[in-house]
Amino acid sequence: MQHYYNVIIIGGGISGTALLYELAKYTDLESIALFEKYPALSSLNSNGRNNSQTLHCGDIETNYTFEKAKKVKKTANMLLNYALDHGYAQKHIFKFPKMVIGVGEKEVSFIKERYETFRTLYPYLELFTAEDLAKIEPKLVEGREDEIVAMGALDEYCAVDFGAIAETFAQNAKKSMKGVCDIYLDAEVYRIDRIGDKFQLTTPKGKYFADYIVVNAGAHSLLQAHKMGYGKDYACLPIGGSFYYAPASILGSKVYTVQNDKLPFAAIHGDPDILMKGKTRFGPTALALPKLERYTENTYLEFFESLRPDKSVIKVFYDLLADDDIREYVFKNMMYEVPGIRKGLFLKEAKKIIPTLRESDIEFADHVGGLRPQIIDKKNKRLLLGEAKIDTKEGIVFNMTPSPGATSCLGNALKDVELIAEYLGCGFDSAKANIDLVGEEQKSVPVLEPMPGYVETQS
Ligand SMILES: Cc1cc2nc3c(=O)[nH]c(=O)nc-3n(C[C@H](O)[C@H](O)[C@H](O)COP(=O)(O)OP(=O)(O)OC[C@H]3O[C@@H](n4cnc5c(N)ncnc54)[C@H](O)[C@@H]3O)c2cc1C
Repeated sequence: MQHYYNVIIIGGGISGTALLYELAKYTDLESIALFEKYPALSSLNSNGRNNSQTLHCGDIETNYTFEKAKKVKKTANMLLNYALDHGYAQKHIFKFPKMVIGVGEKEVSFIKERYETFRTLYPYLELFTAEDLAKIEPKLVEGREDEIVAMGALDEYCAVDFGAIAETFAQNAKKSMKGVCDIYLDAEVYRIDRIGDKFQLTTPKGKYFADYIVVNAGAHSLLQAHKMGYGKDYACLPIGGSFYYAPASILGSKVYTVQNDKLPFAAIHGDPDILMKGKTRFGPTALALPKLERYTENTYLEFFESLRPDKSVIKVFYDLLADDDIREYVFKNMMYEVPGIRKGLFLKEAKKIIPTLRESDIEFADHVGGLRPQIIDKKNKRLLLGEAKIDTKEGIVFNMTPSPGATSCLGNALKDVELIAEYLGCGFDSAKANIDLVGEEQKSVPVLEPMPGYVETQS
């Protein structure tokens, strides 16, 4: 059959390319292909401009429970092992000091308690007093009246250029594949139809066929599922995240803040930007947006198609907005986008990290920050916060990947490889995948190259 593949992946972000890599490297499939709508891989959320560039391993993210931290630690280590094994240390994955700060009596005791529990999972974690912080990151203590403590680490890989890693997945997939591994760019999949025991894809390059399809199309995944009659119990709520830039001299570490339990999205943090030389980033904000791509205007209609507003969606919104803290948070995040007033308002938030920060230190980062496709579970009338998968068991899978989807790309892909191997009956060398990716906890590789640009500016 012309234009036929065993497996076709839709979407060339980090999720789609991670799956392409694992299929090429660990299965005996004869032909696989990936279709990406834009002329380049990782044009949307996986692009380093559009996410926080953080390897979320669960040590400093106070929005994770201990159980969730255990899970993300495992998948984060897979990405780390992949990157170190392929020689990407200090090229696409970087070491920075990282920490979460507790400010004021309540947060300080929270951090101290959390430290005692979490160091059992992350033995490298340290507790930093105000005196320690004055040496490590002086701007955290300068001008601060409230007490402060932090837990974190000084020498761990924690910043990733996810877009660059996605490129390496694609290249390494092509190198590893014994059969056919094709990547089609500028190739939006308009339709997926089941024809007999195959799927037919309609694209600008013609019709293509496959036995198995994985849809890794970010915010568009659920829409594709709805079009095929799947996932009707879910709705997609896209949450945009914006950032503010400050000079790199302000912060040399990843600094997270304590999560307010009631808020559905992670608190803002400060991070050295690994792509913009000489910049620190603060953010991301969290703004519900009626579109499926942050900077593409013609996705409004698609948003409504994938939200499918009904009583249960309205109930989720109502419950969220009934809470004073969440209402204030939603309103504040809307204001962070309004030119003229946004800088002053965001400054108040960022001052929790750097008390002496001035309005003149920060600037809105234009066209930086993507969308997190958060999923509403209509049956249970609640907002899901992590990744979600619709496994139809009929040869097609849809993945929705809000944060920490980039960190867990190899773990998520491994689940799909297992589903594909079971469905198609192909060979899957899971032992090798486990040795390579899960391996020991973390592989050590000597660091020979200097840190990226921001450190030069800092000194
Ligand atoms: C502000 C922000 C901060 C974040 N920070 C972090 C972080 O620090 N760490 C972390 O781990 N995660 C973070 N995330 C989440 C992370 O960016 C995503 O989980 C991850 O990039 C998702 O990758 P993906 O490949 O699934 O989706 P995407 O990167 O969105 O890629 C989907 C691809 O599918 C393509 N596509 C869509 N429809 C079609 C079609 N019909 N045909 C062909 N192609 C199609 C798109 O063009 C796109 O390239 C953050 C997200 C945001 C928005």
